[in-house]
Amino acid sequence: MIDTHCHLDLAVFDEDRAAVMERSRQAGVVQWVVPALSLAHFPALVALRTPELHVALGLHPLFIHDHPDDGIGQLAQWVARIQPVALGEIGLDATAPNQERQQKLFAAQLDLAREARLPVLLHVRKCHEPVLALLQRTAFSCGGIVHAFNGSVQQAHRYLAMGFRLGMGGVVTHEAAVRIRQMAREVPEEALVLESDAPDLPPVGHRGERNEPCHLPLVVQALAALRQVSQARIVETTTHNARATLGLADLRRAE
Ligand SMILES: [Zn+2]
Repeated sequence: MIDTHCHLDLAVFDEDRAAVMERSRQAGVVQWVVPALSLAHFPALVALRTPELHVALGLHPLFIHDHPDDGIGQLAQWVARIQPVALGEIGLDATAPNQERQQKLFAAQLDLAREARLPVLLHVRKCHEPVLALLQRTAFSCGGIVHAFNGSVQQAHRYLAMGFRLGMGGVVTHEAAVRIRQMAREVPEEALVLESDAPDLPPVGHRGERNEPCHLPLVVQALAALRQVSQARIVETTTHNARATLGLADLRRAE
């Protein structure tokens, strides 16, 4: 399994980060992608990098007030120096303030991704239409992952046509999430990637707890049941999809 979205750099993991990593390794996670929130987080995030733990760098729309005016310039320097696997997480959030500045930052980061030939990790809340419109208008062709995808099947197909995959996490394990479970059943297999979004969005049985990547097998179980395929099949396809989108090496094969 590849966890395509987990915030293992956050302080909530400072006490026991090594144990969290080991637990998820035992559960079958072989690679992790940790996306950034703001410039202030970059040094600690980059310090976590290993051959299996990949980082993405970006300016998150929810942290709009933390991004300085020359944020894009600073991000570009970090990207050139660090060569992250993706730009992220970036996007639009209708529940966060300052829509106009969010739009500008997002468009500038898509330009930067295009120049650096990097995929993007998208945070999209109640904004799928404007995001799809911008991707289409700018003919964005580097692809990426729509994190915690909660749009429609029709929108899923439009993202897929532009080289995007859809992040599936703890939400699909909750029976009350009827609409999202229906979508997870109907989207093409090529679209699926796994994500924990740790420490957020814990799966069924872990409500109110700090989420960890070791719970990814519960997401696999739910997807397998919904789509009536084996768990091995879900692991195989999501791992393949994540590697293809983010250009990750199969480390076992490289040995
Ligand atoms: Zn996130």
